[in-house]
Amino acid sequence: MPDGKPSGVRCVQLTDDNRCKLFGKPERPTVCTRLRPMAEMCGESAEDAMRYLFDLETLTAPALQTPLQRSQLFLKKYPLQLQLP
Ligand code: SF4
Repeated sequence: MPDGKPSGVRCVQLTDDNRCKLFGKPERPTVCTRLRPMAEMCGESAEDAMRYLFDLETLTAPALQTPLQRSQLFLKKYPLQLQLP
């Protein structure tokens, strides 16, 4: 999308079965190429993934809280799982 994808808008590159039309192509946005999915991001269904995205957008909305408050809310909802050696 030339001016970026607005929040809450379906990407124009998604197929009807939710696959990326640009997958493997050089024109795929860098942010999409670099994203490494995690189990908690995807959940068990498309609904779980949409809920996670909605939570991320809500918790990171700049107008709602200070950066520290947003971080605290995010970590409370999605605690980091550290794997120490
Ligand atoms: S990976 Fe990126 S370009 Fe592809 S469908 Fe998703 S948001 Fe759109």
